[in-house]
Amino acid sequence: MIGIFGGTFDPVHSGHTHAALSVASELGLSSIRMLLSARPGHRMPSQTSKEHRWKMLQLACAEHSSLIADDRELNRPGTSYSFDTLAAIAADKSAAGEDSSAPVWILGHDSYVTLTSWYRWNEITNLCNLVVLDRPGQMTAEEPNLVNFFARRRCEKIDHSKVGQMLRLLLPMSEVSATFIRRQLSLGQSVSDLLAPKVNQYIEQHQLYTTTESIV
Ligand code: ATP
Repeated sequence: MIGIFGGTFDPVHSGHTHAALSVASELGLSSIRMLLSARPGHRMPSQTSKEHRWKMLQLACAEHSSLIADDRELNRPGTSYSFDTLAAIAADKSAAGEDSSAPVWILGHDSYVTLTSWYRWNEITNLCNLVVLDRPGQMTAEEPNLVNFFARRRCEKIDHSKVGQMLRLLLPMSEVSATFIRRQLSLGQSVSDLLAPKVNQYIEQHQLYTTTESIV
């Protein structure tokens, strides 16, 4: 079973790695692909180049044997649509004759509430099962389209032989966000406890996030 955790990772932080490892342990996934959303279609372009974000993601994943940095969106020209990525993963799995279990796409609740703005959003679950990480205290309202679409797809346990299910998980999450990290760094504050040591070093070496331009 493949777990996929996508993000702009600007920069990748302990909240991301902790979330991915927690889902892997909860669902018994042997590995999670940490997929760099190189050119996201549904949010503002990142301030930091995709090359820097990719390098930091590789450094963070190198610390955990079950996290695999995935550059398929980096290498594909044009906007990084999740639907296209999942279609490519399905094609690769079938060409390689790999097991037919459905990929598990992992999303934080803040990303889940934006889903209806994603390219071909209502076809994404034709290609995978969704896991949504609920974060009490940080939950934004879900629009009716999203609620209606997933009402029939919600499950208590994923059957990995099928696609089209949505599981909500309530696991302890860390409260950090990349926005907070960018803000702290632009103010000259240390965030070393929220980053992998090598990611912290990389940021210092390349003087990333030193201006207020890179906050949002
Ligand atoms: P930003 O503050 O720039 O929006 P972010 O920290 O939310 O960044 P992203 O790269 O945008 O990070 O998010 C990638 C995925 O990680 C999303 O599904 C998001 O919901 C999830 N995520 C981000 N921070 C956490 C966290 N602390 N705990 C669990 N999931 C998280």
